[in-house]
Amino acid sequence: MSGTHALERTRLGAAGAPPAPHDHAAGAPVAVGEPLIRLRGVTKTYGMGTASFQALRGVDLDIKAGEFVAVMGPSGSGKSTVMNILGCLDTPTSGQYQFRGVPVEKLSRDQRARLRRRWLGFVFQGFNLLARTSAQENVELPLLYRGEKAADRHAMARRALAAVGLAGWEHHTPAELSGGQQQRVAIARAIVCEPAVLLADEPTGNLDSQRSVEIMELLRQLNEEQQITVLMVTHEPDMAAYARRVVRFVDGLVASDVAQQAGSGG
Ligand code: ADP
Repeated sequence: MSGTHALERTRLGAAGAPPAPHDHAAGAPVAVGEPLIRLRGVTKTYGMGTASFQALRGVDLDIKAGEFVAVMGPSGSGKSTVMNILGCLDTPTSGQYQFRGVPVEKLSRDQRARLRRRWLGFVFQGFNLLARTSAQENVELPLLYRGEKAADRHAMARRALAAVGLAGWEHHTPAELSGGQQQRVAIARAIVCEPAVLLADEPTGNLDSQRSVEIMELLRQLNEEQQITVLMVTHEPDMAAYARRVVRFVDGLVASDVAQQAGSGG
């Protein structure tokens, strides 16, 4: 089973947890360039005994606030597993994960959920919007779980939709929107709580090339203008070209980690 599914399931499942209003989980925002994510010797073993499989075999990774990182590598190389760990949806078998200096493995399940809600936004290949629910209501959902008042929810969701270029589309349901627009709604939902990090798992995997370019331009804009750190799994070199750093996994290890000039993709 691919770890991606765990990511999607848990994200949707986590939506039901009762939140504290304005739960900032652990302090002030991180300034661009400060350490945000630090993995040391992270391993992940699935299963037991002879049936066990080591999906991560000792991953070290440092990501600073404001980076735009593409995560690449062949199928089965551990990309989804590491994204699940970074997203606080799964825990390492051994090794350390520090997020903003906080040792994540020492947090309780609840504390990890709060960290996730406060600091992380998720975007998936399959959009994962509620059908028969307007764009506005889809984007308001995380705010509802966070206990925001209706008037604030409406205003914040409208702002997020405007930020992704969907002002005027608030009352459309997913069925009335194109794939590219649906992914924009999903991105608005991911940024409405003003996360420090966007974790995107093949965000253009279901889109044609023109829509893909538009979504990548949007991610770049959120990264450059709102200083959101973007971590994106992709198989496509054209999409990875938007990132300023490419981390490549092979057999559960970081095989290469290369800075690059952010190009225009396609
Ligand atoms: P990628 O995202 O790079 O395709 P994954 O992180 O999904 O790779 O998977 C890495 C390896 O771990 C694969 O061989 C996969 O079959 C295995 N794996 C992933 N999730 C599980 C699981 N829940 N149980 C057992 N094996 C798993």
